[in-house]
Amino acid sequence: MPQRRAVLAAALLVGAAAASPAHPLTRYEFSSRQMGTEARIVLFAASEDAARDAASRAFARVAALDAVMSDYREDSELMRLCRRAGSGPVPISDDLFRVLDASERLARDSRGAFDVTVGPLTHLWRRARRRGERPDEAEIRAALALTGATKLILNAHDHTADLRAAGMQVDLGAIGKGYAADEAAAVLKGLSYRSALVALGGDIVAAGAPPGSRGWTIDVADLRSHGAAPRVVLRDAAVSTSGDAEQWMEIAGVRYSHIIDPRTGAPLTGRRSVTVIAPRGTLSDGLATAVSVLGIMDGIALVTRARGTAARISVANGDEIRTVTSPTWRYFVAGGSGPISVSSGGLRPAGPPYTLASGAPGPAPLAWLTRDARSLLFRHR
Ligand code: ADP
Ligand code: MG
Repeated sequence: MPQRRAVLAAALLVGAAAASPAHPLTRYEFSSRQMGTEARIVLFAASEDAARDAASRAFARVAALDAVMSDYREDSELMRLCRRAGSGPVPISDDLFRVLDASERLARDSRGAFDVTVGPLTHLWRRARRRGERPDEAEIRAALALTGATKLILNAHDHTADLRAAGMQVDLGAIGKGYAADEAAAVLKGLSYRSALVALGGDIVAAGAPPGSRGWTIDVADLRSHGAAPRVVLRDAAVSTSGDAEQWMEIAGVRYSHIIDPRTGAPLTGRRSVTVIAPRGTLSDGLATAVSVLGIMDGIALVTRARGTAARISVANGDEIRTVTSPTWRYFVAGGSGPISVSSGGLRPAGPPYTLASGAPGPAPLAWLTRDARSLLFRHR
């Protein structure tokens, strides 16, 4: 065992030595308005021209995905599919199939708390916000009748989607940005960038790690307006935060979230913030919404069942804020107990516990973290 550690440490040092003096890498950051939010790309490249070219290709991929998934654009592939609801199976693109397929799995795993067929409900509540009055019960019931993940049938063989009832609407607002961030990161990887960060609003995908470091340090949004934000360190992983800090509506004195509980047809009320870490942005984005709906107990249970994931949930009750984290959260916290490894039972600390951030961790623990975190995350692909 100690021997293997030494080998890994040596490999890491050799890699670092080969990369740095010959081709010093510089950090570049780009931003662009995409999918109705700020998109940011950070990458380490040998020249600004190369970095700019790579970032614009990644942004172009996001823009292309918006043309597939947007429910604000009448001409998107998604809207064209919705207009054919109730008329049988429709052939769809690879991207739409993959995001609908991931949505279907999440709907099943969350027992319907996550459901992209909530479109009739999101439209109803958006209209309610414009009018300033709550929809009546009959309207909510009618929208609920057109909602339900089991009314969306995917056929992998024919590559089709079938919205079973006329009037159904699919809303990818809770998973599309995570999927697009994954795809933008894949573009950068395809161009041989091993160290890049893609952020689409609150959905962030961290590919590799900045040169010489063990991961990307990311401050997570919190319900509290003051005090230190929770800080996580990620390598080949994604983090998403869902909350009503920015998006909410007030109707007749009640504060409603933009997240809807598909089981009741009503938006969540009260203030909460959910952060989920997962191997991929598609999953972290979707899970953050699912956990918001499920609440603390069922939310933590869902995240604990999914491998390679962690969650932090804050719920405000008056002035008091209650925060709960999954047992796995500590593996990603800056200065946390570190390293993570795979065992048949899921996550567990590897070897004697030590602190990664405070003090100077030697190369051996660093190598262990790298290797173990990687193998853990790749298992989910
Ligand atoms: P944000 O848009 O702030 O990133 P989310 O990822 O949580 O937040 O997505 C919220 C959006 O997802 C809503 O605006 C709506 O379009 C859609 N949505 C609302 N409730 C649900 C739900 N229960 N399941 C799936 N999608 C939902
Ligand atoms: Mg989401």
